[in-house]
Amino acid sequence: MSTTSTTTKQAVSLTGTGLHLAFGNNKVLKGVDIHVDAGTTTTVIGPSGSGKSTLLRVLNRLHEPDSGDIALDGRSVLQDNPDDLRKRIGMVFQQFNLFPHKSVADNIALGPRKLRGVSKEEARSVALRQLELVGLAHKADARPANLSGGQQQRVAIARALAMEPQVMFFDEATSALDPELVKGVLALMAELASGGMTMVVVTHEMGYARNVSDHVVFMDRGVVVETGKPEQIFTAAESERLRTFLSQVL
Ligand code: ADP
Ligand code: MG
Repeated sequence: MSTTSTTTKQAVSLTGTGLHLAFGNNKVLKGVDIHVDAGTTTTVIGPSGSGKSTLLRVLNRLHEPDSGDIALDGRSVLQDNPDDLRKRIGMVFQQFNLFPHKSVADNIALGPRKLRGVSKEEARSVALRQLELVGLAHKADARPANLSGGQQQRVAIARALAMEPQVMFFDEATSALDPELVKGVLALMAELASGGMTMVVVTHEMGYARNVSDHVVFMDRGVVVETGKPEQIFTAAESERLRTFLSQVL
């Protein structure tokens, strides 16, 4: 049975509660709480090394938290098979990691084929539909190397979406791109957000954080220092640390 082509997945909320993680003596997450309402975007900002990437990896259980809970739609997922959780959360990184010897369409079809048991023909049609959504249908049979960095990142987003995730994580998805290519990727992310996807976006793009996200989380040294609506964060920051950070990046 296949549900790929027609179902619209219901958006889900994501909650991390009291998340702790240490690598040896290095306490990287020290009791992080985060809640993302269904269909909204939360942007995570903060200095390098503050634990933002680790938080995403804990939330999809690439690292198991030392303590704390993770819930989708209010139901804890810690007892589930981590692979099930990872199928529900799509992830896009700074490095696109496309397979160089496969066509763009095959890169996207691979996940549905291997992880969801979709037939070859259907995986191809899923791939083509996703490529259409990211504006790259004409590149289906090209190799990744023949695409710009921005196009490759849009393929990586299409690859994640082909798994029909309920939540999308972006970890500095535009940081490796040439400046002129950043806009197209941000526009695609904004489009996804307005389409009602639940998203957690780690970014240095303060314009995106301010204009697209529903909620902003500021992390420093493994804790959430301040959280609020973008207007609050960008015009009325309460903590000295956040004000200092913003004065450095804006
Ligand atoms: P950010 O994404 O905010 O820059 P990270 O989550 O990447 O921060 O890193 C936070 C801290 O965790 C850093 O001190 C980093 O060295 C450490 N860290 C991250 N991943 C690992 C790992 N796999 N093993 C050991 N230390 C790690
Ligand atoms: Mg990081």
